[in-house]
Amino acid sequence: MQLTVLGCYGPYPPAGGACSGYLLEESGYRLLIDCGNGVLSRLQQHLPLVKLDGVLISHLHSDHVSDLMVMRYGLEAALSRGERSAPLPLYAPPEPAAEYRRLPYKNAYQVEPLQAGRSLQLGPFNITFQETVHALPCLAMRLESRDAVLVYSADTEYYPELADLARGADLFLCEANYQNEDMAQNPPNHLSSAQAAQIAAAAGVKRLLLTHLHPERERERSLEQARVIFPEVAVAREGAQYQVGP
Ligand SMILES: [Zn+2]
Repeated sequence: MQLTVLGCYGPYPPAGGACSGYLLEESGYRLLIDCGNGVLSRLQQHLPLVKLDGVLISHLHSDHVSDLMVMRYGLEAALSRGERSAPLPLYAPPEPAAEYRRLPYKNAYQVEPLQAGRSLQLGPFNITFQETVHALPCLAMRLESRDAVLVYSADTEYYPELADLARGADLFLCEANYQNEDMAQNPPNHLSSAQAAQIAAAAGVKRLLLTHLHPERERERSLEQARVIFPEVAVAREGAQYQVGP
């Protein structure tokens, strides 16, 4: 299983950066997880748009979906040129309904609702979901292939059950929007890097990759605050590729 980080910032990117987007590949199947602003451009540095096999969306906040509104034009053009023969499967939580209704566009996407408790088989990936604690319905996900497990936290504040979903993962891709200095105010909706590390330790994951970085917070500080709790940690880098499992 190979992970390519296309965008790792939230809720907005710094100059030259992109919001959430991750390309996951295994056995020739190419899955895009989240599609925030800047992701479509980055994706095409790795593969032609027509080669994408599916899209999974964790939740309908703009930093996770906004490039879907542009990708649809490219997909439509590919259909009309005969380079694609079917809509691209797109899975997303169906709430808020007004945001969900914005997703379908001509024949670009085949939109399917996602729910926690329902599992999904996409190519080589068996995927299970867990509702997170966020401002709107949001799903963390566990993606298992024959010999590797990746767990993605999506956006969430701290809740202990996330460690159950992440149990024993080869790679835990976890949001870390805050730093220790922010936590005195009990800020909502997101984790600090130290909280991500606590969950990684409780879950016994092999590696932790911090993501959903805030553009105004120093990444080295996020890394240091996590490393004292969980040593096998790195901060996501846009364009970097990570081998997951053997
Ligand atoms: Zn976000």
